[in-house]
Amino acid sequence: MKVLNLQCGQSHVFEGWFGSEEDYQSQRARGLVACPLCGDDQVNKLPSAPRLNLGATEPVKPANSPAASIEEPLMVANAVSPDTAAPMVTQQMQAAILNAMKHVLANTEDVGAQFAEEARKMHYGETLDRSIRGQATREEAESLREEGIEIMSLPIPDILKGSLQ
Ligand SMILES: [Zn+2]
Repeated sequence: MKVLNLQCGQSHVFEGWFGSEEDYQSQRARGLVACPLCGDDQVNKLPSAPRLNLGATEPVKPANSPAASIEEPLMVANAVSPDTAAPMVTQQMQAAILNAMKHVLANTEDVGAQFAEEARKMHYGETLDRSIRGQATREEAESLREEGIEIMSLPIPDILKGSLQ
């Protein structure tokens, strides 16, 4: 579908909807394109509205750094929880989030409440490095970060919790 800005011989400006540019040309040649106000069929196409061009030439946002791209789905994931549910989160997005979380959950070892202890052991080389998940209190998470141990908070939707136990 192509929307064209048209102008008749009496300078009336109106929008015309056509299947394609050729469609417009052929309808115009047969006198089928007429001004809705005065019926004039001497119709000319105006250049696209400036706002449309502005949209197309808007500078592309700089690509996210790798770290930012990891955090992005987590931010979206927050929107899935019922209290902050945003209407703009589509089912497709939710499915993508759930898939990402399933991937995380399938590729990490659940150490439960031992999370902080295990993370610390790995950091100090007392145990093998691996991907783990578990629960940590806010205090534990803060002290891990202070020790320079990278951890990630991930709100897991309830619908995933049940299927993983
Ligand atoms: Zn007209």
